[in-house]
Amino acid sequence: MQYDVLVVGGGPAGLAAAIRLKQLQPDTSVCVIEKGSEIGAHILSGAVMDPRAIDELFPDWKAKGAPLNVPVSEDRFLFLTATGSYATPNWMLPGCFMNHGNYVVSLGTVCRWLGQQAEAVGVEIFSGFAGAEVLYDGQGAVRGVATGDMGVNRKAKRPRRTSLGWNWSRSTRSSPKAAAATWASSWRRSSGCAKASIPRCTASG
Ligand SMILES: Cc1cc2nc3c(=O)[nH]c(=O)nc-3n(C[C@H](O)[C@H](O)[C@H](O)COP(=O)(O)OP(=O)(O)OC[C@H]3O[C@@H](n4cnc5c(N)ncnc54)[C@H](O)[C@@H]3O)c2cc1C
Repeated sequence: MQYDVLVVGGGPAGLAAAIRLKQLQPDTSVCVIEKGSEIGAHILSGAVMDPRAIDELFPDWKAKGAPLNVPVSEDRFLFLTATGSYATPNWMLPGCFMNHGNYVVSLGTVCRWLGQQAEAVGVEIFSGFAGAEVLYDGQGAVRGVATGDMGVNRKAKRPRRTSLGWNWSRSTRSSPKAAAATWASSWRRSSGCAKASIPRCTASG
């Protein structure tokens, strides 16, 4: 399987990265592999979410129905005792404990919604595929990942219904360097940040 960009892991970071790449350059083929049976299946956390990032990704997230429905209405910081609790006055708390403007969310539900938005902009998502091994080319550059075999039994034997892993590698029509340079230049254009560089990440392509 060959793509310009492969994102390993469909958590909030991977999905946001995949969506952003497609927003910047719709012609780039972007794939997300996720080891959970579906997007959100391995996301455990309930969370208080700062909406800054989603504001940038989808300024119209409310109209799109993003599942950020419960704004924080009050902060209470308590020291619990065996029988009760002591409250700390809010003015004594550092700014990072102040959650006004944030939302109480289920991060799994947010991820499922992000997954739908990713597919809507053309990201291909493959759930149930865990990246098991990084693949390198002759020069030592990352060229993709291999996903694990499925259905291998406890004795590492492969019964008939085994599904062999795939190699997910960069597209031959675009080298990683060329693809990275193109995203970097379109990102610089859109962000107005002329000298910024895009750090290499755990994707290939
Ligand atoms: C208990 C708890 C409470 C938290 N509370 C808050 C909070 O209130 N507010 C807040 O902002 N943050 C909170 N966080 C932090 C927040 O959950 C993380 O910062 C966020 O989930 C990181 O996103 P991520 O996409 O980088 O990684 P993750 O959310 O960990 O997503 C990674 C994804 O990659 C998949 N994956 C992993 N390995 C592979 C592989 N080899 N192949 C394929 N797929 C793979 C996983 O299944 C998962 O879906 C909390 C975290 C925890 C654990």
